[in-house]
Amino acid sequence: MDVSIEKKLHDLWKLQQIDSKSDAIRAIRGELPMEVADLEDDIAGLETRIQHFEEEIDELNSQIAGKKNAIKDFQSLIVKYDEQMNNIKNSREYEAIDKEKEIAGLEILSAEKKIKDFTKIIEAKSELLEQTREQLNSRKSDLDFKKAELVEIEKENEEEMAKFLKDRESALKKLDDRYSRAYTRVRENMKNGIAVAPIVRSSCGGCFAKVPPQRHSDIRAHIKIIVCEHCGRILVDETISGIAAAVIEEKKTTRRKMKLTAK
Ligand SMILES: [Zn+2]
Repeated sequence: MDVSIEKKLHDLWKLQQIDSKSDAIRAIRGELPMEVADLEDDIAGLETRIQHFEEEIDELNSQIAGKKNAIKDFQSLIVKYDEQMNNIKNSREYEAIDKEKEIAGLEILSAEKKIKDFTKIIEAKSELLEQTREQLNSRKSDLDFKKAELVEIEKENEEEMAKFLKDRESALKKLDDRYSRAYTRVRENMKNGIAVAPIVRSSCGGCFAKVPPQRHSDIRAHIKIIVCEHCGRILVDETISGIAAAVIEEKKTTRRKMKLTAK
């Protein structure tokens, strides 16, 4: 057993644990900024929709106002035509004015129909506008909630992350450059950030490939640093990781609980 190798394995394992804890914290926060960005996109889209509805409704309202003015104009024309007809001598002139009066009456009817149509469209659009506003409000309160959550998590983690950084620095200092470089290289290549894997149930805790018994006992011997044949992670045995013991302990507790339940 090489004491200096054993110490290095301990130091590597410690560094890995520090990194894994800060990875876990980042993972919790990980989804939130994305969710906040998605909500902000949704809100911008809904606000644009609302603006369009409002513009369309305004446009229809001003068309209705125009039609109402036209109706008033035609109504005063009709009054004028009636006055003219009362003072008319020959029938040709009378018929001509009567024709004008009839046209004015038709214009009023057509304007009234348009007002009805526009009013219906406004009603439909107002309903959509209301629904969109409700959606917007609910997205906004979701956003407020997520933002507050993010701020809270960041605040909670600030201290912890600062401590991890400090611990990491001192753990790195304990390792030779050669080992810290190897550790960093392997960690960067692994999606889960695990460079030092414990052996769990005779398998690599990083890729779950079986570790052959001979290799397992070589690893237990602490004579040199041994990596997983499959994934290249540095392997540590149960005396370094303490994980096998934990697994056994967990099993015992489960069995005890089962016994208790059986009683
Ligand atoms: Zn492996």
